[in-house]
Amino acid sequence: MSSFSNKFHGKVAVVTASTEGIGFAIAKRLAEDGASVMISSRKQENVDTALAKLKSENLTKVAGVVCHVGKEDHRNKMIQETLRRFGGIDILVSNAACSPMFGPVLEVSISRTITTIFDINVKATFLLIKEIVPHIEKRGGGNIVMISSLSGYTLEKMIGAYGVSKTALLGLTKALVPECSEKNIRVNCIAPGLIQTRFSEMTWKNPSIRKNVEALIPMSRIGQPSECAGVVSFLCSDDASFISGETIIMSGGIAPRL
Ligand code: NAP
Repeated sequence: MSSFSNKFHGKVAVVTASTEGIGFAIAKRLAEDGASVMISSRKQENVDTALAKLKSENLTKVAGVVCHVGKEDHRNKMIQETLRRFGGIDILVSNAACSPMFGPVLEVSISRTITTIFDINVKATFLLIKEIVPHIEKRGGGNIVMISSLSGYTLEKMIGAYGVSKTALLGLTKALVPECSEKNIRVNCIAPGLIQTRFSEMTWKNPSIRKNVEALIPMSRIGQPSECAGVVSFLCSDDASFISGETIIMSGGIAPRL
């Protein structure tokens, strides 16, 4: 912990889907950098376990609440609980997403799968940002970071609908810039390639599949959640004070754009 800064001292961060994986690493890093952090996910027991882990690392300015991002009353409760515990909101990291199907895009069931993917990955992100912006504005400005994916840029045949939802976040990042800039809010995005979490375990748990996957990555390895957390910490910091509307691809060297 001593190697981290206190750059977010006095700042309050809300990180969605933050009881494990990338969201947990981001919450931990922002807390290590001095922020008060509200973590959340759908299950109380996961919130309790994650909170205990953070506290066991001497990160005491953390709180947790159950929040399924697709549910308006949950989002509302998360916001109110953050205001009650920490007195305001300066940073929102919108991290929650789902990828409920693996298969060709034309076989996706419109009524269920498409609706779920777009409700959670896009609509809930948009609504949560809309709900939290007035609170960040009250603090005189702050930061929003969305978690997209490399698959928002690349062609991934078996997760095409998920990829389209992640492309939408690239557009949302850009679309929010004019209004957010007027409120002194920077809005940015990260697009991770393969990161070692439960979400992606089918690509790394089996050693021979992992070897094949890593052979396709210029840096010859998959990424770690803490590496996403470092980039989010940078984007929310004054070191990134002139960056807004940007998406940082972090993919071990896979370069899907100029
Ligand atoms: P993960 O390790 O599977 O963690 C998922 C977290 O989200 C858990 O804390 C889970 O807790 C929570 N969660 C799931 N659905 C939720 C919902 N509807 N509302 C609130 N919380 C929810 O996943 P991850 O790999 O860290 O993924 C995080 C983000 O990174 C996602 O946006 C994903 O698309 C993106 N991403 C991941 C990779 C990768 O390779 N891992 C690559 C690119 C982008 P509960 O079960 O308690 O809800």
